[in-house]
Amino acid sequence: MQRDIGIHMKGGVITERDSEFCTVRLRAPAGIFTADQLRGIAALAKKYGNGEVHGTTRQTLEIPHVKGDQLKKLAAALEKNKTPVGSEKDEVVNIIACPGNTRCKFANIDSVSLAAKIDTKLFGKEMPVKMRIAIAGCPNACTSPMLNEIGIIGRVRPVRTTERMCTGCGNCVYYCKEDAIKIRNGISVLDESKCVQCGVCVQSCHYDLIRPEHRHFLITVGGRRGRHPKIGRSLLTVETEEQAMFVVEKIVDWVYRRAWSGRLLSEQLDDIHFDKFREEIVKKVPEAQPVVDEGSQPKMEV
Ligand code: SF4
Ligand code: SF4
Ligand code: SF4
Repeated sequence: MQRDIGIHMKGGVITERDSEFCTVRLRAPAGIFTADQLRGIAALAKKYGNGEVHGTTRQTLEIPHVKGDQLKKLAAALEKNKTPVGSEKDEVVNIIACPGNTRCKFANIDSVSLAAKIDTKLFGKEMPVKMRIAIAGCPNACTSPMLNEIGIIGRVRPVRTTERMCTGCGNCVYYCKEDAIKIRNGISVLDESKCVQCGVCVQSCHYDLIRPEHRHFLITVGGRRGRHPKIGRSLLTVETEEQAMFVVEKIVDWVYRRAWSGRLLSEQLDDIHFDKFREEIVKKVPEAQPVVDEGSQPKMEV
């Protein structure tokens, strides 16, 4: 069978156990497909594959069982369907994001918009190590951002104002899952050391006594899943989407220039000393606030 080497080398084309066949992974920032795109994918899976479509862990779809000599035609058809061939090698792979503030009531940021911007600038960039990027709109971290080489989490710092009298109703206490608010002497008291900055208490107070301050993007690096799972470390925070995008670009640029293949990014960051790495990134993004308190590491529930 004649293979098209060019298309076969694309990261989203994965040779199957039976090497006559390939699985073709799609590019889908934030895992969003329109109904029309899905109809197109279904038709292409019937025409070029075995009629199945597989949902992947990186929020995308793949078409299994495609013959090598059909790859080029399928890639062109996918392009026309606006769901081009994706990426899986040592590249910036599909960007994961939760619905963020477009749909989720807990979100502090627009995860989908940031995912689209990162995808436009960086998707498919060849790298010395695979770069997985995931975004979560709040510390619930539904997309497990801290298990990716770059993780982004939307947070907000709650501040208990004293402008008006707290009724001691306990609504904020009820909604805080971290046990960070207590009622003492009839009024609420917030313990910042327990707070993960989810912002839920802000929404819970009908009297606006808990104000959102410093809505921000926490950026983590060096996480990964797989055979040696590792939780990413908190690097810094920034306040705008543009700054978050800029930080991601700077990290990717650093990895592109300074990292080498065959070794976990987290170990490479250890080698150069994590603090030094943070210093280098912060120097390039003056608005960034380094996260030096390890106690503020994102908590993870898996
Ligand atoms: S991470 Fe937070 S904002 Fe995103 S879907 Fe989960 S709960 Fe909603
Ligand atoms: S922001 Fe979240 S963790 Fe912090 S006090 Fe409010 S509800 Fe609790
Ligand atoms: S919800 Fe508001 S009024 Fe009620 S205890 Fe909390 S801060 Fe006080």
